[in-house]
Amino acid sequence: MAALNLITFADAAGSRAGVLLSGGRVLDLAVAMPPARDMLAVIDGGAAMLAAIRALAANPPANALLALASVALQAPIPKPRRNVFCVGRNYMDHVAEGDRTRGITQSEVPKYPQFFTKAADCVIAPGAKVPTHDGVTKWLDYEVELVAIIGTAGRDIPKEKALEHVFGWTIGNDVTGRDLQRRHGQWFKGKSLDRSCPLGPVIVPADELDAADLAIGLKLNGEQRQSSRTSKMIFDVPEIIHQLSSGFTLLPGDVIMTGTPEGVGYAMQPPQTLKAGDIMELTIEGIGTLTNTVSD
Ligand code: MN
Repeated sequence: MAALNLITFADAAGSRAGVLLSGGRVLDLAVAMPPARDMLAVIDGGAAMLAAIRALAANPPANALLALASVALQAPIPKPRRNVFCVGRNYMDHVAEGDRTRGITQSEVPKYPQFFTKAADCVIAPGAKVPTHDGVTKWLDYEVELVAIIGTAGRDIPKEKALEHVFGWTIGNDVTGRDLQRRHGQWFKGKSLDRSCPLGPVIVPADELDAADLAIGLKLNGEQRQSSRTSKMIFDVPEIIHQLSSGFTLLPGDVIMTGTPEGVGYAMQPPQTLKAGDIMELTIEGIGTLTNTVSD
C-alpha cells in the first residue's frame, strides 16, 4: 500500500488537515474525521488517530473528497508554535565545501551538532514564492534537508528512544543569505529572512518510512546541484534528538531540519546565487518533491 501522505491545505472554508490520495484527490479530514481538524490535532491523536486516518484513506467517503486542483497546499505545519530547529554542518562533504570558501583545506569533523533556529514565521508552502531579498543579501542560497516532525514531548531523550518521538518526515529548504550568515557571526540573521523556509509537500508518518538512508537531492532549473544520502549525516536523527532534548523539552509539532549535503551555490566555482525565476526542486526518496520558485 502507498505511504500515507498527510497534508495541510486551504480553500474558502479555511485551513485544515487532509490526505493526498491518488488521482489528484484530497481527503478532507475536517469532514471525514472532525477531531483531525489540523496537523497538530492529527499529531496529538497518536497511533489510534493515524490508524483511523489510514482506514479512511483506503476507503474514502465521497462527501469528504476534494480535487487537489481546487485547494491550496500549505506547509504541513503552516505555523510552527516556535522556531524551526536546525542543524548546521551535518554532512562532511558540505563541511568541506564551506571550509574551502574560507581557504581551509583540512576540515575537522564537528564534535557536537551546531544548533541554530529559523523564525517560525519564515515557513511557506510548497509552490510559494521565495523573494530574492535584493538589496538585503547578495548571496541567496538553497539547502535541501530532511525534516523530522516531533510527535510526542520529551526531555533528555536517550538515543535509542529518539525515533519514538518522531511523528513523521517532510522536506525543508533552508534558504540562506550567505553574506548575512557570515557577517553577523550568529547565523540567525542570515537564516531568518521572510519566506525562507519552504516545507512540504507532505508528511509521511515515521512508522511508514525509515529515514536513515534515503536519497536526498536538489535540482536548480533542472540541473542536479545536490545529491547525497541521509546516511551521510555526521549526527543522525537519533543523535540530533538526543542532544537537542538534553535539558530542553521538545514538543509535538516541533520542526527539526537536519542539515544539508554538499552542492550549495556559494561553494561552487565560481559561486552561484539564486535569482528571480529560479526553480528549486527538492526531492527525498519516499517523501516526494518540494518545489518553490524565486521571485522579485
Ligand atoms: Mn541548513
